[in-house]
Amino acid sequence: MNDFATQIVTHWGSDSGTLKKLNLVSESMCLAKWYNSTIWLGSGMTTSCHHPPAHAVDKDKVIINPKLLHNTDQKKEDRRKMLAGEKPAGCEYCWKIEAMGTNAVSDRVYKSKIYPLTALREASDTPVKNDVDLRTLEISFDRTCNFACSYCNPAFSTAWVKDIKNNGPYTGLISDGRNHFTHTHESSQLYTINETNPYVEAFFKWWESDLHKTLQELRITGGEPLMSGYTWKLIDWFKTNQGRSNTKLAINSNLGLTTDKLHNFVERVKDLPHLEIYTSQEAIGSAAEYIRDGLDYGQWLQNVQELLETNSIKAVHVMCTINALCLSTLDQSLDRVLEWKTKHGRDRVSFTLNILRFPSFQSPLILPAKLKELFRCRLQDWLNLNRHNEFLHEHEINHLQRLIDYLDVVKTPHSDAFDIPKLLNDFGQFYTQYDQRRNKDFGKTFPELKEWYDSIIQYQLPNDIQI
Ligand code: SF4
Repeated sequence: MNDFATQIVTHWGSDSGTLKKLNLVSESMCLAKWYNSTIWLGSGMTTSCHHPPAHAVDKDKVIINPKLLHNTDQKKEDRRKMLAGEKPAGCEYCWKIEAMGTNAVSDRVYKSKIYPLTALREASDTPVKNDVDLRTLEISFDRTCNFACSYCNPAFSTAWVKDIKNNGPYTGLISDGRNHFTHTHESSQLYTINETNPYVEAFFKWWESDLHKTLQELRITGGEPLMSGYTWKLIDWFKTNQGRSNTKLAINSNLGLTTDKLHNFVERVKDLPHLEIYTSQEAIGSAAEYIRDGLDYGQWLQNVQELLETNSIKAVHVMCTINALCLSTLDQSLDRVLEWKTKHGRDRVSFTLNILRFPSFQSPLILPAKLKELFRCRLQDWLNLNRHNEFLHEHEINHLQRLIDYLDVVKTPHSDAFDIPKLLNDFGQFYTQYDQRRNKDFGKTFPELKEWYDSIIQYQLPNDIQI
């Protein structure tokens, strides 16, 4: 911390300026490990930020000390490593971006600069054995969801559970070491709706004692949070405790609501001062509906439009999960966001591009070089055309630039996914079964990918790879 302490700095500055300041503490420093958490109360798991693999929270200890929902032994060890300049393995997402050597900005910049610069000193000065108070929290109460997106799985969606229960496990997948698509992931929902869930109890205890004072932002995720009674309990808390908390409430919603339900929602949240909506979308039309099974794209467009026209919602953020199937229409999806920005304001709607790594066979890096290059050039054209558009934020331009670089430079989705034949096998196996189970047609939906896909589904694994 000495270098940092000798410099008079009062604000983070640009993305590259933020990186320099973090690196004054250490080249692996990231404030998300201290102040940001994702907690799945249904399964009693956590991680921070949302990129590293989740790990378990101790059920018995958390009843006594709810702060252990976030301050697990593993995170404390990761904090020690970051202060010592070591790179926690779970943060590979960022190390991979930084290793590209193209000035690409990793998420440790974005996920640190949302806190005041003083937080860097506080984190560095706090003994690693201490519990810290969260500033941003993403929380999931349960996995109830009406969508079954192709890159999701039964751990996060009851619609996915139904697919597995009705049709059995997906077969022939060999790169998915965690078996995401072969069982119903009962460990993701340890308690039924009628049972007392000690993790949920701990969360509300911590919320009442500290979190409502310390949190800058509470984001509810799922499943689909609007289908959880606990989301409405929190919304009602904010309505009846106006003035007690400055926490900004945000909800990750698939916005798969009918118009009536959307109107009911808008009416119920109209007195909340800070509500923001995060919604996933990375493609358009039938491509979007293929990737996000359950989606009615026209209804989604209408719902976003209505939210932007009401004063009840402060902002809508479109989260793009960059997978192999979205690249052919991603530029058109960004066009739509830019139109909304132009009409409703730069800050009323924004986008982020998050590169999918799991399941690895759905990564954009599975595509053949010719298609990757085609889509990379398309995105580069979009960026060239819009780079100086006053409605774009710096982080949006940087996200797009890093995706363009990623498609150019990075060859495998993550360090264990080097075996392209296995990934190709799984791509063909998975989407053949997905088409049958969901009544879809890959070739019709993605004409630019059809020739390649047809070659994939006839693909024969080399003899030395065993299923
Ligand atoms: S994955 Fe990146 S942003 Fe997330 S905690 Fe690790 S270093 Fe920070």
